[in-house]
Amino acid sequence: MDDCILVRYGEIALKSDQTRKWWNKTLLENMKDCLEKNNITYSSIDVKLGRLIVYTKEKKEASIALRNVFGITSLSPAVRVEADFEKIKDKCLELSNNKGKKFRVSTRRITKEFPMTSDKVNGALGAFLKEKLDLEVNLTNFDFEMGIEFLDGYAYLFTERIKTFGGLPIGVQGKVICLVSSGIDSPVAAWLLMKRGCQVDLMHFKVTEEGYKKYTKIKEILQKFSYGHEIKDYVIDGVPYLSNTKQKLCEKGKDKWMCIFCKKRFLQEAERTCNEEGYLAIITGENLGQVASQTLKNLVLLDSTVKVTVLRPVLTYDKNEIVGMARIIGTYEISKEKEPKCPFTPNYPMTSGSAEELHNIEMMIWD
Ligand code: ATP
Ligand code: MG
Repeated sequence: MDDCILVRYGEIALKSDQTRKWWNKTLLENMKDCLEKNNITYSSIDVKLGRLIVYTKEKKEASIALRNVFGITSLSPAVRVEADFEKIKDKCLELSNNKGKKFRVSTRRITKEFPMTSDKVNGALGAFLKEKLDLEVNLTNFDFEMGIEFLDGYAYLFTERIKTFGGLPIGVQGKVICLVSSGIDSPVAAWLLMKRGCQVDLMHFKVTEEGYKKYTKIKEILQKFSYGHEIKDYVIDGVPYLSNTKQKLCEKGKDKWMCIFCKKRFLQEAERTCNEEGYLAIITGENLGQVASQTLKNLVLLDSTVKVTVLRPVLTYDKNEIVGMARIIGTYEISKEKEPKCPFTPNYPMTSGSAEELHNIEMMIWD
């Protein structure tokens, strides 16, 4: 008998042989990084058809840590026994004890060498456990599920199936840079790109000390999802440019353009870093219509100021949906901490800036 964690993955299984090998290897490396960073001892990880199997005694700790590894769809702390029906019965009896009254057995033969069909195993094992432990079989409303997966001559037995985030292993989609503030939205944007396999690095413009402190805590939380990639960050003092620009705009009575100038600056700095460091795209936490400056017109105008692709993964979500994700990630509590209002935001931001006007104002203030 061997203690292990059965790791299931989703979309990787749908890929061509070559891609699957590469993605599997990336997932394996990220899982190792996760186990090592969480000081979890394991003896080996088997890469099997549709499953990765981590051999460890620290099953509870390992399954908590591995939940944050993208690419995994579910996990089961399990025991491995030889695919021998008597041995399976004994072990299932032990695992089913004190788990509740109503149960069902769910069997899957991933490889088919075991002679009984899955239905037969469900029936025979269900009857055996029912009698031995005085249980009740209920296929739809059950307290626990006795799971069995047959694979390469072994049976993996488990009573827990922990659903995880899915997504793709970090590293299979290349690297991007995310503009992250201390707010709710941009940490979610960074997380969503990580979830789809990107190595995400961060750029933060320091505007207030409080905002920066929140940002550093957010970065730490994001790192707990970024196994396989050490997050690098670029912190820039935003005050000199913003206060100078604010003053110039106010002098010309164009204060309401401030948010556009601010975001344009962020994008241009990020673009420069993309070109120097090889990032494929810039990510922001902008949303459609959430704040006065985030109109579609403004976002289109901002896009026209850089050549690099700008991705906005939370663009279409409602605020409560973004908050829901931030809570799951663990950044919400930090983002919602009070901090001074941005000192540069005008009372009435421009909502429909045109490229021509922007150009004229730039000529006006930078002459
Ligand atoms: P967030 O919740 O991410 O702060 P928001 O809805 O408050 O977003 P804005 O404050 O207008 O919107 O910022 C829009 C986007 O600009 C942010 O999502 C983020 O990507 C970027 N951004 C804003 N402030 C900063 C900052 N100080 N440093 C880096 N990026 C920033
Ligand atoms: Mg903000």
